[in-house]
Amino acid sequence: THFGYQTVDADAKAGMVGQVFDSVAAKYDVMNDLMSFGVHRIWKRFTIDQSGVRPGQSILDIAGGTGDLAGKFSKRVGKDGLVVLADINSSMLRVGRDKLMDIGLVGNIDFTQANAEALPFEDDTFDCITIAFGLRNVTDKDKALVSMNRVLKPGGRLLILEFSKPVLPLLSKAYDAYSFAALPIMGKLVANDAESYRYLAESIRMHPDQETLKSMMDDAGFGVTSYHNLTGGIVALHKGFKI
Ligand code: SAM
Repeated sequence: THFGYQTVDADAKAGMVGQVFDSVAAKYDVMNDLMSFGVHRIWKRFTIDQSGVRPGQSILDIAGGTGDLAGKFSKRVGKDGLVVLADINSSMLRVGRDKLMDIGLVGNIDFTQANAEALPFEDDTFDCITIAFGLRNVTDKDKALVSMNRVLKPGGRLLILEFSKPVLPLLSKAYDAYSFAALPIMGKLVANDAESYRYLAESIRMHPDQETLKSMMDDAGFGVTSYHNLTGGIVALHKGFKI
């Protein structure tokens, strides 16, 4: 069997995403390094560079998981700033909090269990919102984008780092073969969980491509939207502003 989630209803998808991240939380970081050959670190670094975040600002990292972006933002915003790491999954939040505490980054980071579709914050709260490798797991992406727009300050910036559509047909084929053949095997060997990594491959294939996601951002009310392909479009960083 496999997670053909396009045919299941919204509750079932949310439940399945919950199971997947409960199951992978403990091995999440090591699997990220293995699956991407460490390149996810470069994608995340680029995201931070594009954030324009300055000391004293308030940042929301949605689907923040094990805290890679939140940790980097914490150093950027300094003691007068605030980083909120929000994630729907308590196992991922726990791993993230432990990791950031271990490296001494806690003073300016809050942890919140929250669904991207209904963010529990006041309007116009954050200078910058990021969501890295999270949007494809969200059931109602349009609702989530509207919710992000609401809690962003006018002029604030949304950055979405997500798998996208490789620009070269050959790269696309090789990448498809890699994700459907190699990822479940690696998942089985390292995390003893092939099924979750089969879901990962499936969810990447189903995610909207660059132009589709850009128009979804436009429809949710963001302005000056754009995207930047990384690693040949395997990943894209979308950017938009609250106008
Ligand atoms: N941002 C981290 C990173 O880049 O390493 C973690 C990404 S991980 C692949 C996806 C995360 O999205 C998981 O921690 C999962 O719990 C979270 N997630 C899934 N659906 C969500 C939702 N509706 N709202 C908030 N977080 C969600």
